[in-house]
Amino acid sequence: MELAMRAHKTTTIQWLGAADIDDYAAILCDLDGCLVSAGSPLPGAEEFVRAAGKRLSIVSNNSADTSVTLSRKLTAIGLPLPQESIFLAGELTVRMIAAEHPGARVHVIAEQPLHQLAADLGLERADERADTVLLARDTRFTLNGLEKALRLLERGAELVVTNPDLSHPNPDGLPVPETGTLLAAFKACCPGITARVIGKPQPFLIDAALSAAGVRAADAAFVGDNATTDGAAAALAGLDFIHLVAPPMPMANVNALRDTAEPVQPAAAEANVC
Ligand SMILES: [Mg+2]
Repeated sequence: MELAMRAHKTTTIQWLGAADIDDYAAILCDLDGCLVSAGSPLPGAEEFVRAAGKRLSIVSNNSADTSVTLSRKLTAIGLPLPQESIFLAGELTVRMIAAEHPGARVHVIAEQPLHQLAADLGLERADERADTVLLARDTRFTLNGLEKALRLLERGAELVVTNPDLSHPNPDGLPVPETGTLLAAFKACCPGITARVIGKPQPFLIDAALSAAGVRAADAAFVGDNATTDGAAAALAGLDFIHLVAPPMPMANVNALRDTAEPVQPAAAEANVC
């Protein structure tokens, strides 16, 4: 087949257009910076969603919503995307933990939708002894919460992180802290800490979306605005990457925190107790 013979490639575009996705059986698209910004649709998003139709899946490092809550929000702003087409780092991380360890004791650091999902999937809320510490974006994150989580890790819990993004830009281009910033706090306190990070640039979300669509990587494209996370994930999963280039943001940190980076060694033995 002609589609199967096409090599992985990167195309750079400055606005979303239907012509760019004509050839693909499945179109996977990032959300923030591509279709929406600060909760509002970006120019061309409605037309793009219409043109992609049932071929479109959203693949996002969002760790605050579930596909149910996000589908409602997107539909309300004119982007009617069914929950079945939405693949989110936060939700898939909770589902992965529940599938790997049914009934596991999980200490959840996240917004309410992920707490509810964890409970719905039979995961046990744990504050004293935990199998897993789940770290997602949590606007109520505190030093007391960090201390409690570190104690659970010291007792043997695994740290699982929904996504490595340090920030995303607000409408003025200023950075809004993301899950990676919280992970950086863990690592600042305990440099030797290890974590399993699920979201992009890992290909886990893309693989899940392709599997649900029943489409091979060679017949799909990934549309994203961040080469470091979206582009890397597309390359790892074997998809063509359509890079939507947005104007540079003045302060945003676009580099994803690499969970695979060498652990930072403390400058002195007394710098930390981990
Ligand atoms: Mg983005």
